[in-house]
Formats: sequence, structure tokens, C-alpha cells
Amino acid sequence: MAHMVHKIGGISGALALGISCALLTPFASGSESSATEKQASAATEKPQQATLHVDPAIPYRSAQSMADALGPMATLMMASRQPRSETIDFTSADSLTVLVNKKNPLTPLSYTPKDLVAPTSLGVPSFGGQLLRKDAAEALAQMYAAAKKAGVFFELRSGYRSASTQATLHPGYANRYGSEHAELLSARAGYSEHQTGLAVDLTDGSELTAAFAKTEAAQWLAANSWKYGFILRYTQGNTGVTGYNFEPWHFRFLGVEESTRYYRSGAKTYEDYLGQPAAPTY
Ligand SMILES: [Zn+2]
Repeated sequence: MAHMVHKIGGISGALALGISCALLTPFASGSESSATEKQASAATEKPQQATLHVDPAIPYRSAQSMADALGPMATLMMASRQPRSETIDFTSADSLTVLVNKKNPLTPLSYTPKDLVAPTSLGVPSFGGQLLRKDAAEALAQMYAAAKKAGVFFELRSGYRSASTQATLHPGYANRYGSEHAELLSARAGYSEHQTGLAVDLTDGSELTAAFAKTEAAQWLAANSWKYGFILRYTQGNTGVTGYNFEPWHFRFLGVEESTRYYRSGAKTYEDYLGQPAAPTY
């Protein structure tokens, strides 16, 4: 359901509201309902604007061309209504905003980041020589310092995992839990966010189970991680979208600009945020 709601907020919503709404509420960034109200009241006051309504069936490019023809204000509004996937790189393995799930593997499957560093060198306690991409490691160090200041402790249990490590790990889960259950717990090689060097498993020393969500560390991280560029990636109740069970310990680095947008969007999954299909299975 959240998936559908978000889609309404995306380009389909923009087209449904039409260019007239875009012109009449030039800086509206609020909820869909307020935009609809403004459109409704505007339609009463200025019925001639209704002639600018765009048929939802018109492809996006046509709507964009029309927005261009109508002037910069309309273009601005169309841009703010675009799904995020239209304006950021979510397909290149090296992109900080790459989407990795069961429908979107890394290309190539053997991808290895080039700028891996050890977060321990930046003061973050880590479990046995963990590595992360430089931007993620630096942000993690900032988040660690802020948590410490707030009296909260966490350590990096798992960061970058190579394709070969993942290829070894995944069958281990399958042996232990059965292949179907294993798919909800662990990714195949090339399909793991850990292979990007941008994902972290953080814990206060607790086991990585749903019970971790009740700890002070998990709650602090869930509330504050976006300020440092991280999002809680596998949220509760969204297994049908993310393809994974609730993982209160797994955070994904997107960069502060993107995590802030994500936080403000109210999205519960990165798939929904990007307007991309759910990825429950391979
Ligand atoms: Zn993880």
C-alpha cells in the first residue's frame, strides 16, 4: 500500500493533477491533499486554467515538453514532481545512490569498490578489519562521535563484503535455515548491498535479531542516522517490497543530501522512494 501511495506522489500524481495545478501552486511542496485542495479552489476561481489539464495517458516526455513550452515555473514544478529515479543515478555500481535488491543486481556481479578504507582508522570500533567506501566510512565516524556524545554506543559488525565472501555466506544460510528462509536473511553474490561498500550492520554488541530494535542504540540510529547520510534499509512490515526481513541493524549510506530527502519524503523503503518496483524475490 505504501508503494502505491508513493507512486501517487510521483510522476503519475503530477500528471493526474495536471499542469494547471503546477502553474497555480508554483512552490507547493506540501502534501498531495493540500495541492488537490488548491487545485479545487483554483478551479472554482479561475475555470479557464482547467483547459491546461494534461491527460494522464500522455507520456512524461510530452508533459515535460508542454511544461517547457509553458515556461520556467511549470518546468520547476514538473521537476519537483519527478520520481527521484529520474534525477539520480541508481543503476551504476559506483553511484552512492545505487539501488541493489533482488531485481537490481550490481553490474558487474563481481563489482569491487575502489576507495575502501578501514573505519577503525577513523575511530569506529569494528569487528575484525571491516572496510567501507571512503564517504560512508567518514560519515560513519561522524555518526559514531555524535552517538557517543549522546551516550549511545555502537560498533560496526559488518561493512563491505566481496562477491566471493557473499557467495560463500549465502549457501551457509541456506544450509542452516533452508533455501526459502535464507533468501529473506541473506543475499546472493552481486545482489548484496554490502558488496557496494555502502551498507553497515551496526550493533551495541547484541545479536543481529529483531530484538535489537528495542535497544537504545537501535532507536538512536533509527531516529538520527539520516542526518549522517544513512537510512534504515529493511524496515518492519516491508519484506514484500525489500525482499528482506526487518533488519534494525542494517543501514545504507546514500549521502546526506539524499538521506535528508528520503527522510523528508516519509518513504519506508528505498524502492518506494525511487518509484521502483517491489523486489520480493529474484
Ligand atoms: Zn546488513
